Amino acid sequence: MLTDKFNRVHNYLRISLTDKCNLRCAYCNPIDLPKGYFRGLPRMTADEIEQIVSVFVKEGVKKIRLTGGEPLVRKDAQEIIERISKYPVELAISTNGVLVDKYIDAFKNAGIQSVNVSLDSLTREKFFAITKRDEFNRILDNIYLLLQHDFHVKINVVVMKAVNDDELNDFIAWTKHLPLHVRFIEFMPFAGNEWSREKVFSYQEMLDQISKEYNFMKLQDAKHDTDKKYFVPGHDGTFAIISTMSQPFCGGCNRMRLTTDGKMKNCLFSKSEVDILSTLRNGQDITPLIKQCVWEKEKALGGQFTSVYENLDASKISNRSMINIGG
Ligand code: SAM
Repeated sequence: MLTDKFNRVHNYLRISLTDKCNLRCAYCNPIDLPKGYFRGLPRMTADEIEQIVSVFVKEGVKKIRLTGGEPLVRKDAQEIIERISKYPVELAISTNGVLVDKYIDAFKNAGIQSVNVSLDSLTREKFFAITKRDEFNRILDNIYLLLQHDFHVKINVVVMKAVNDDELNDFIAWTKHLPLHVRFIEFMPFAGNEWSREKVFSYQEMLDQISKEYNFMKLQDAKHDTDKKYFVPGHDGTFAIISTMSQPFCGGCNRMRLTTDGKMKNCLFSKSEVDILSTLRNGQDITPLIKQCVWEKEKALGGQFTSVYENLDASKISNRSMINIGG
């Protein structure tokens, strides 16, 4: 079992398959990466990913999410999905949706039931302004395709002031006749992503805006949930808010991350990384490193800031960009 100093049991691993992406959202994939980081990192092979997964599973991991970059741009994504699906874990995936139609059968064969799709706007023009790519219609078609095939579909929306904060109720209207689960995410600071507190549209501001149009009710959240769930009576779908900045949820954290280049992070905001891949390549046991990494986890937010984010100087945070870490 992987436990930290605060008695948190860690049984959920997020693996970044690649730091490449077919979209160019500046908040995630900034033009200028911090010193020492570049796009197209040397990456773990499918074989190495499977070996690392087998160790994590032996240590009690029950859930694995494949992410990136965009995991589905990796040429051997299907092989990796197939290989991990042989392990006794709940397998999930986060994608921008562009290539989903090519993977429907692979998802089904691997027993994937839930797919998270990122979509920050419901208009083609704004989607293009955010992502610099004209893929809106293709993504929408793929979301409907996932629903036709009975996947549980969560839509991740990063909400930024004066960018898409006027669209919350449009997303909720979308859930009236469709079983979509929209999750509004507070904008988080990463290297090079031009975060500022003025751009954060907070949990409370979101609730205030939604309440202008909808009566909604709270749903029960599970112990490790990062989102606070709600439903509007009469809607087929639900909505939720991921309040990392204003109300962090580190107390119930059970997550670990593995970057494309085989470094383990015990928190999205951890300063340090542990080089699992080099140790594996040297033929050594990676278990002690994994245990140590979990043990050293900070109590909250990688020890880098607090929920009083109004005072946060983002330039002082030491971290990679989101595309480099794996979201
Ligand atoms: N390409 C996949 C996707 O689009 O879901 C997986 C990787 S992406 C980094 C994972 C999630 O992180 C996406 O929902 C993305 O919007 C979110 N994300 C990236 N940068 C973020 C930031 N600065 N603040 C909040 N969420 C962010």
